[in-house]
Amino acid sequence: MSEHTITVAGVSVDTRHWIGGERVASAQTFPDVSPIDGCTIGDISRGAATEAAAAVAAAKAAFPAWAATSRAERARILHAIADGVDKRIEELAIVETTDNGALLRSHRRGVMPRVAHNFRFFADWLLKLEHEDFETRGHTNHVSWDPAGPCVLITPWNAPLMLATWKVAPALAAGDTVVLKPAEWSPLTASLLADIAAEAGLPAGVLNVVQGYGSEVGDALTSHPDVRRISFTGSVPTARRIAASASANLTPLSLELGGKSPLLVFADADLDLAVDLAVEQYDNAGQVCLAGTRLLVEEPIAEEFTRRFVEKAAALTQGDPRDEATDIGPNIHPRQLEKIDGFVRRALDAGARAVIGGHRNGGQYYAPTLLTDVAQDSEIVQEEVFGPVLTLQTFADEDEAIRLANDTRFGLAATLATGDPQRAERVSAQLVAGTVWVNCFFVRDLQAPFGGSRQSGVGREGGTWSFDFYCDLKNTVTAPKGWKDHG
Ligand code: NAD
Repeated sequence: MSEHTITVAGVSVDTRHWIGGERVASAQTFPDVSPIDGCTIGDISRGAATEAAAAVAAAKAAFPAWAATSRAERARILHAIADGVDKRIEELAIVETTDNGALLRSHRRGVMPRVAHNFRFFADWLLKLEHEDFETRGHTNHVSWDPAGPCVLITPWNAPLMLATWKVAPALAAGDTVVLKPAEWSPLTASLLADIAAEAGLPAGVLNVVQGYGSEVGDALTSHPDVRRISFTGSVPTARRIAASASANLTPLSLELGGKSPLLVFADADLDLAVDLAVEQYDNAGQVCLAGTRLLVEEPIAEEFTRRFVEKAAALTQGDPRDEATDIGPNIHPRQLEKIDGFVRRALDAGARAVIGGHRNGGQYYAPTLLTDVAQDSEIVQEEVFGPVLTLQTFADEDEAIRLANDTRFGLAATLATGDPQRAERVSAQLVAGTVWVNCFFVRDLQAPFGGSRQSGVGREGGTWSFDFYCDLKNTVTAPKGWKDHG
């Protein structure tokens, strides 16, 4: 075993970058720490401008051949990557859980199968991607999705491999080459993906992985003139820096950012369902961009809703995410825990009441928290906490519900619980959100447009929208035979 290989729960993981089909070590490393016990898992190669430049150069060199590879062959290789993921679901699941603390049972049964699905879905979508030709005064218009070039994909830690492959798969399907920069708090599964892709026959340089701190490796990637697309999932402040850096070359950006989504519960809702939906917002210890963290409940049912919510939330088990019985694991990093606690302390100081939680729960755990008596313009209602912290406000009627729901700078998602289909239609039409769920949560089809409004993002990915982003769209206009322009 090389000095650059670590063993994580029995799985070998290479700690070096993956550039041009080779493992590349940096002189410097950064420690990767498990949120489960705070122990260092390993020291990871810490990239900077040199590694970033090498990865973009490798992606540029590999681009012409990959772009010229037939759709069928690209789809075949993507399916082979999906097969490789399927074969290693258990390994990927335990490595991801060790690295980011999210539940092993979710990784096993939901997240990692979805990673494989990301590859299969975009491979299959590629094969049916077409726009019907149309005529203009006898001329034929033919629309094509041309590969664009090297893409930089920068991803967060809350769902590392799922969010990375949601970008990697369509970019590769599109005929682009990729430099993936995983988050420094959870870099391991990106390294395993490099192994899987190589075993599946993906040519060298088509997928590159550069690890490191965003502040050290980010600029060199996002300001690089050879990069044709940047897709980023992460926080609003980082998005601003990336947009500024990308502006030098006007590199097209797709930004999937934070949220402060509402969950509206109307008096006519199935209350059991509404309570289930609300408690679900603690999933992944609240580290879900789409989470409906603002519970907005119609006045007449607020008391009963709160009573049932508390009963259900109190039954959640918090603990080791490797244990199948655990519902809520740790938060990712001491810094994140500090941030969460800071939000809660300031809210309590400002007069909020913790109906449940409101405190740390030992180690890197934060007790599931529900805060009431919060003002609409307060920090806790307006800012993303990214931890297991919900607020509850009441509303008198539909108009007030909509006003409160839309009154933040975000617009990622909204969930509503109501027994009245006409109300559902009326209210969803007025909500500012990239996704609205009616009497459900987190149902996501990869062909649907996904993204956020306002500061929750720029652009949409999913299905054809992904190809629209990762490709240069071209319209070829062909004159009819014998046509001469006398105009
Ligand atoms: P972050 O912005 O701190 O980091 C995200 C990534 O950006 C990391 O890989 C980081 O290394 C990199 N980065 C940091 N500085 C950079 C720079 N200057 N240049 C280039 N890259 C840089 O976000 P995070 O804390 O990892 O993730 C949490 C955030 O992500 C939350 O706001 C959450 O809502 C959001 N998120 C959004 C979605 C979505 O689909 N809309 C999904 C998941 C998470």
